[in-house]
Parts: sequence; structure tokens; C-alpha cells
Amino acid sequence: MKLQKELLSKNWSWNELEEIQEIGLVKAVRHAYTNSPFYRQLFNETGLNPGKIEGKANFNQIPFTTKNDLRQAYPYGMTAVPLEKILRIHASSGTTGKPIVAGYTRTDLNWWSEAVARICAMAGVTTKDIAQVSFGYGLFTGGFGLHYGLEKLGATVVPFSSGNTERQLSLMKDFQTSVLVSTPSFALYMAETASNLGYDPLDFQLKIGLFGGEPCSEAMREEIEKKWGLIATVNYGLTEVVGPGVAGECPHKTGMHILEDLYYPEIIDPESGAVLPDGHSGELVLTPLLKEGFPVLRYRTGDITRLIAEKCSCGRNIRRMDYITGRSDDMIIIKGVNVFPSQIEEVLAGFKEVSPHYQLILHKTRGTIKDLEVQVELTPEGFTDRYKALEALERRIKQSLRSTLSLGPRITLMEPGSLERTTGKAKRVVEKEKEDI
Ligand code: ADP
Ligand code: ZN
Repeated sequence: MKLQKELLSKNWSWNELEEIQEIGLVKAVRHAYTNSPFYRQLFNETGLNPGKIEGKANFNQIPFTTKNDLRQAYPYGMTAVPLEKILRIHASSGTTGKPIVAGYTRTDLNWWSEAVARICAMAGVTTKDIAQVSFGYGLFTGGFGLHYGLEKLGATVVPFSSGNTERQLSLMKDFQTSVLVSTPSFALYMAETASNLGYDPLDFQLKIGLFGGEPCSEAMREEIEKKWGLIATVNYGLTEVVGPGVAGECPHKTGMHILEDLYYPEIIDPESGAVLPDGHSGELVLTPLLKEGFPVLRYRTGDITRLIAEKCSCGRNIRRMDYITGRSDDMIIIKGVNVFPSQIEEVLAGFKEVSPHYQLILHKTRGTIKDLEVQVELTPEGFTDRYKALEALERRIKQSLRSTLSLGPRITLMEPGSLERTTGKAKRVVEKEKEDI
């Protein structure tokens, strides 16, 4: 079961990676065209000859695949093998439409767990660690994805799943858990709950956090590290591409290394679709090279980031992706200004009186955003009953948002602990429709 040391520490040279990607892309296109009903139709309709795709040089002739394409293919339209070869099915939450269904063959499950094992090893996890998986187990890829990756690496896995915070904490203490796998917001919530229950989080044995599934601002990372006394690393993945195991941080924490021998990343201008050079910010497009059950070519992730090509201090050659500044579908357009929740979060992080817990309320009238309200919690230290002080703080936050984002939303300061906590991904944006009178 143990993954060969060789693979975990393997550092490809640029030339080796280049070759793996060139060959991988040609194979991925051939497999998609030959076996996926969706891609066969796409190539036929666009008159594109898959045999003419020679690798990176003309890869950008292939049209993008979008979330909507995958939804329309529900449930098995993207499947490229007979169903009896599919060993497992995962699916996205499907809150905004039909879920996206991902089927994995035995080969897929193997390379996926190896990919996750490498992400965990990159963050510093070893066979000596006891890792508690606090991602939900089920159709969501997070729980099972991390579970099998950690097992492949040879760590001891505690498959707790999400929720049941008090019991999580008590077992975490008794089992001497050294690695916590969760969303960053749940890690923070667990630390708060631990303190409320009278534990000192620093008395736990946690050393490494493997956090993913949602953005983690630097302020949030610092808070988690301080509270738990661990090294918080973040990793990235998505159901449409495979699940977790696409990119992750090394302990230098300078962006997430993409496993470029398994995925071909591109950054595009979200408006024009043009491919942008390294260093430029845009939408991440991914092509998994080995995917058998459910191949996707040039998948538009909707995630905004940039590729970092400079060598990392850890010595790895593979490029990194910067922390996600937003999901294109999270972008709020209010009174002609485009903002991502992360930009507001960054401004809030500059105020020591407020905590990383916040929520954006979009007040709508007949579908149009009329007003944005930023609800933000005070820290226990920032909490005061002096009205004047609170008013002044509100004003300063509003001014700061106006000068950095040209946006002057309503600020509502909340008591510590009053915003709803989550055991999964935090819901930062809430829409409220004003009733017509
Ligand atoms: P859903 O679309 O239902 O959230 P997934 O669980 O597949 O489905 O989530 C994938 C998405 O989660 C990514 O496209 C990205 O927006 C977000 N995500 C995952 N990891 C990170 C991360 N480390 N930083 C920021 N966002 C992340
Ligand atoms: Zn590194």
C-alpha cells in the first residue's frame, strides 16, 4: 500500500514535464474523442480533427468545457467507459441545478489517491501522523479523496467526517491527532468550540492542517495557526477535474504546487478566452491527463488565480497557482462595481477589532442588487458597549472599503460568536429579496 518514496520526492525537470504534458494531452484528446459521447459530438460539430491536435502548440483550438456542459450531460453523458468499469461515483452538491456526476474507474481511483498522497506529503505529512478527516464522507469528493490519499501515503486515518464538533474534539485529543483535514472555516470553528468547552487548543497534538474546499485568507490562516499551534497548508481541487489532489502547498506556503505531470493548467482571460502568460491573473482552465472514466478537456474552473513559474525554495520545478481571489460566479456586481468577497475580506483583515467571520448580504429588489450589507463580527477584544466607538469603527471600515474598492456598503458590526458557523464550506454571500408591497 505504501507509495514509493521515489514518487513522493520525485522532482521532474522542465524537459521531462514538457514531454509528459505533450504526450499526455495527445492521449487525453484521443481518449475523449474515441470514447466520450460528449467530446465526439463536440469535435464533429466544430469540424475539429482530433488527430490534428499535436500537444500544447495547438491545444487552444479545442473549445472550453463549462460547468453547464457537465450539467447537461447528467448523469452519464460524459462517461467514457462502459458503466461496469466505473467503481465509484461522486457528485457536486447541485444546489444551483442538476449535480455534476463524476465516475471513477479503478485506474482513476489509483492515480487520484496517489495524487492526494503526494499533496499530503508535500505539506509535510508522514507515515507517523494520525490524520483526522473532518470533510464530509459521501458524494462530496473531499472525505473519500483525502481518506484514500492519506492511507496510500501510510498515515493513520481517523475517518470522522464533518459535524459533531464536540465529539470530534474529544477524540482528537484522545487519539493525539497530528493532522487535521477540513475546510479552514471548520478548523477555526473547532478552535473556538474547544476554548468554549474549556480546552486549550494548544494542548492538542495538531502539527499540520490540510485545508481546502474554500478560500483561506492570510488573516484566517494566521488565526488558525495561532489558535491551534500548527502549520496551516492549503490545497485545491474540484469534482469536475477529480476532487482534491490538484494542487497543494509545501511548507514554504508561497502558492499551491500544481501536479503538472497529471494536469495541464492554463490561465485565460475570462472575457475573451485568450490564453494568458504565466504571472497574469485570470480564470484557471484544467485538463487532467490521465482521466479515464470521465475525461474533460480545457475545463473552465471559474476560479480566478495566476500561475507562478519562479522556482520555489523547496526546490520543486512544478509551477504553483496563487491563492484563489474568487470564483467567477461569486463576483458581485453592485452599482457598476465588480467585487469578490475575498477583496472585502482583505480590507476587513486590516482591522484588529473584527474577526475573520463575516457575511455579505445582497439586498435585492426584483432580482436587482440594491444594497450590500457587510456583517462582520467583533473580536472579544474589539467588543464594547460604547456606541461612539462602534460608530467610529463602522465609519473607518466603510471609508477603507470605499478607498480600496470604490464601494461604500452598509456595515453591521455583530457580537462575537453571533454569525452562523459551518462544519463545511462557509457561506459568505446571502441574497435577500425585498418583498414587494
Ligand atoms: P462545489 O462547486 O459544490 O463547491 P467542489 O467541492 O468540487 O464543488 O468544490 C470545488 C471548488 O471549491 C473549486 O472550484 C474552488 O472554487 C473551491 N476551492 C477548492 N479548494 C480551494 C482552495 N484551496 N482555495 C479556494 N477555493 C477552493
Ligand atoms: Zn514549494
